[in-house]
Amino acid sequence: MNSDFDELLQFDKKHIWHPYTSMSNPTTVLPVASAQGVTLTLADGRELIDGMSSWWSALHGYNHPQLNQALINQSKKMSHVMFGGLTHEPAILLAKKLITITSDNLQHVFFSDSGSVAVEVAIKMALQYWFAQGDSQKNQLLTVNKGYFGDTFGGMAVCDPVNGMHEMFNGVLAQHIFADAPASIGEGAWKDEYIDDFKTKLSENHQNIAAVIIEPMVQNAGGLRFYHAEYLQAVRQLCDEYNVLLILDEIATGFGRTGSLFAYEQADIEADILCLGKALTGGYMTLAATLTCAKVVKGIEADGKGILMHGPTFMANPLACSVANASLDLLLDSPWERRVEGIEKQLKIELEPCKTLKCVKEVRVKGAIGVVELNQSIDVEWSQKQFTQAGVWLRPFGKLVYVMPPFIIKSDELKKITEAIYFVLQKLDHNTEL
Ligand SMILES: *Cc1c(COP(=O)(O)O)cnc(C)c1O
Repeated sequence: MNSDFDELLQFDKKHIWHPYTSMSNPTTVLPVASAQGVTLTLADGRELIDGMSSWWSALHGYNHPQLNQALINQSKKMSHVMFGGLTHEPAILLAKKLITITSDNLQHVFFSDSGSVAVEVAIKMALQYWFAQGDSQKNQLLTVNKGYFGDTFGGMAVCDPVNGMHEMFNGVLAQHIFADAPASIGEGAWKDEYIDDFKTKLSENHQNIAAVIIEPMVQNAGGLRFYHAEYLQAVRQLCDEYNVLLILDEIATGFGRTGSLFAYEQADIEADILCLGKALTGGYMTLAATLTCAKVVKGIEADGKGILMHGPTFMANPLACSVANASLDLLLDSPWERRVEGIEKQLKIELEPCKTLKCVKEVRVKGAIGVVELNQSIDVEWSQKQFTQAGVWLRPFGKLVYVMPPFIIKSDELKKITEAIYFVLQKLDHNTEL
């Protein structure tokens, strides 16, 4: 690495916050010079195979010619115009596509700039739905423990109450209602009693509940837990029974990651409000969307105005919408189902040996998500160094070492990742100081 870059890194360390880090005691960050396909090239020339898809998002890998072209083409027309009083083709085409590929009831789209904001908008829709109909009592949400819905205050308030910064922001976060986390698939076949706590919380509080918010089939950043389709079906049924709206947050699970285009398809249910983000642009730009149905629109209009109170500056950014359109075309024209199935199969076979390690509690795989849960938290600094030395990019959190590669990964590349996981965890087994 040249000395200029060293200086830049020093500046980074001193002045720039990275996600969830301290300024005075920063964690190591690696400078990436470029990325191509599933490979990240560091400033010193080292190459790492990407097992993270840059947090669920880079489905097609990096530096994809079709996605690059979409951005170039759009930038020659306009990179941005305000969405108040103006509209444009990229946004209209994207809304059309999203309405086509999601459940039939979802016919209305609100674009925003990040997943967290899409969740804020979903919460606003749900509250406005009841308030506009004169029901101001319904001002709480019901969710489940171990969820993650973003870092803004609306989303944080429904994140897991133990791990989700509730203590830090005690007294400021809105008070919502939490049911037990859904039983994990690993606990065995579905039992009706698994929904009991949720049912009790809903039946006791439904007069105050505007909506249920949940991540369908997989709880993501809150613990990478997979749960039964029956749970989600029961949630839908109970929402209908007690007349509360259902918000599904597909920001992490959407666009094929769990084996179906959207995870809710596996439970054959519909959302009243659906949040999309992360992989929406194939990992190129920040963009999110909140979709809803005629019922919610009608409810919001009951006050005689029906104005949804949100409007970000960069709403429906044309560059982001264009690259989202190109990414969706690329995905839907690709054999993504076969690819995800292939990744799933390979992860199941190649992560299996981890089960014999002392430090490993459970191995679970769903779609293009592979998780090795450890008995104890893993030192992120140490593991990042180990994985980097093994030529792969993985960033564990807590007790979880996980892989969610771009769908285009080849089997020998994926093998390098699973071998690295086994190798590093084996080291952990033999290293008692850690
Ligand atoms: C990542 C995530 C969010 C927040 O999205 P950002 O783009 O990081 O704001 C919300 N919900 C779920 C399920 C997520 O995985």
